[in-house]
Amino acid sequence: MAAFAAARARALSTIAEACARAGRNPEDVTLLAVSKTVPAERLRAAVAAGLALLGENRVQEAEAKVPLLPGASWHLVGPLQSNKARRAVELFDVVESVDSLDLARRLDRLAGELGRAPLHVYLQVNVDRDEAKAGYDPARLQAELPEIAALPNLSLVGLMTVGRLAATAEEARPTFVRLRDLSERLRGLEPRLGPGLSMGMTSDYAVAVEEGATLVRVGRDIFGERPPLQSGR
Ligand SMILES: *Cc1c(COP(=O)(O)O)cnc(C)c1O
Repeated sequence: MAAFAAARARALSTIAEACARAGRNPEDVTLLAVSKTVPAERLRAAVAAGLALLGENRVQEAEAKVPLLPGASWHLVGPLQSNKARRAVELFDVVESVDSLDLARRLDRLAGELGRAPLHVYLQVNVDRDEAKAGYDPARLQAELPEIAALPNLSLVGLMTVGRLAATAEEARPTFVRLRDLSERLRGLEPRLGPGLSMGMTSDYAVAVEEGATLVRVGRDIFGERPPLQSGR
């Protein structure tokens, strides 16, 4: 637990330093500890050390862990297939990977049925229009946003993006600037879209905070390197 307390303190000070450089208040930035591949046993110590906001990218993996960690709350940060949407609504407090009107409608209906309304979601945007990345094309999001915003059982916290694979944190900066600009523009058109900006991971979260991130998703910097394995995790 002491190791996790130290890791948490380090991440929070990275955030605080980035806030100081940008003239922001550190209280406006939330640390999400991305716990994919980390066994529930280790997570117990992390939660005890104050890392109680956890992120998973697979519904199936979360299904095994969530019941074992009653003190935590959970964000889904990975792609969501429609056949897993019901389980996702039951397990997660926030879904960060909404990237189609179909998925939004389905989550809205399930949140109502399962008594989980309002379900907090982020709309995931592929701001770089990178073919390897999931997320809404910005123009398509703009077109569908009025319909998504009208869904009664969803609360639109804001926008989320996964930065492109970059050699340096600095190379990710334009992605973060684009997401912030898009958020401002879309909120001018649709006031029901919240101001949240989920952006920044281990390699670039300081830069993301400088550019306005309100939530950073940090895995390896807290839990260490993940075992090398399947499909880009
Ligand atoms: C794995 C993952 C993270 C965390 O990545 P790290 O490099 O370990 O900080 C953040 N966001 C998403 C969507 C992820 O899949």
